[in-house]
Amino acid sequence: MTSGLLRNAVRFGYLPFMLIGLNGAAYYAVTTFQSHIAIAATIVALLIVAFSTAFFAERVLPWYAEWNDPHGDDKTNLIHVLVYEIQSANGVLAIPLLGWLFSGGLNAGIWPRDWPVLGQLALAVVLADFGLMYLHYLSHRFPMLWRLHAVHHGVDRLYGFNGLVRHPLHQAIDMILATGPLAIAGMPMQVALLLGFVISIQLIVQHSNVAYALGPLRNHLAIGQIHHLHHVNWGTEGDCNFGLFFNIWDRMLGTFHPEPPRPITAGDMGIDEIPQFPKGYLEQVTLPWRYKPGQGVQDLSRKPAQSPTAAAKARAIHDAAE
Ligand SMILES: [Zn+2]
Repeated sequence: MTSGLLRNAVRFGYLPFMLIGLNGAAYYAVTTFQSHIAIAATIVALLIVAFSTAFFAERVLPWYAEWNDPHGDDKTNLIHVLVYEIQSANGVLAIPLLGWLFSGGLNAGIWPRDWPVLGQLALAVVLADFGLMYLHYLSHRFPMLWRLHAVHHGVDRLYGFNGLVRHPLHQAIDMILATGPLAIAGMPMQVALLLGFVISIQLIVQHSNVAYALGPLRNHLAIGQIHHLHHVNWGTEGDCNFGLFFNIWDRMLGTFHPEPPRPITAGDMGIDEIPQFPKGYLEQVTLPWRYKPGQGVQDLSRKPAQSPTAAAKARAIHDAAE
């Protein structure tokens, strides 16, 4: 039996370790190490520590014990994680090219490069959070974007790997429209690398199945139950709480729902009209071309369009109204 001491260590130590400890270690490495190889190796090692910590903490203090059961999705999710991180690294490596193409050189643009790196990173996080949140909001409103984003919402549980389960095309759209403008403004590679790392850690924390304590931050950070509600398979009731880091953008947009309308159970994750969400990587990345919002996926249901659920009808009406 897990001791109360260990559970309390996870309850109160998980968030500070992940958000301050690991992000702080990445900041130290990126701003101190001279060798690019040493920096890259440290970032990869810290990501492995982050996943390992999440998986360990999920065993010690899970939010829902059922989410720790094998769901046959680990292999596919690992591919998603690798594809996500490779694409993210390519985005950082593309910064010199973007600077040359759009800002008149690597050290040009309106980005405040004279600020301390920590200040530049804070600015990057706030701006990226707004851009990513707004694109996320649009991804729930426009069927074309929703088809891609559905790959993230198809998961029937939340755990360490699921934050990085993204359709690569949707991730590319996020990078071009939400973080690309920062690069065009002249954000240095050093800051972009840290931003990419901080976003990865945030996605791991946001989706990990750990009952960490949030205290007074509960309604200000876009994690915990706030994000569980975003993943419910209750038709359009999860179309809220779009933020990645903070809830302030949702509050401004009127999409912040701090409390679920009814208790969320372990079986409430996923997309109601795709209950048999495919488990294979190729099936998932091709899903947007087989999925018709409001009708489900033709080859995944015996009765695809004849009897949509009330919630599926609600989504179809909602989408048609756009
Ligand atoms: Zn979403």
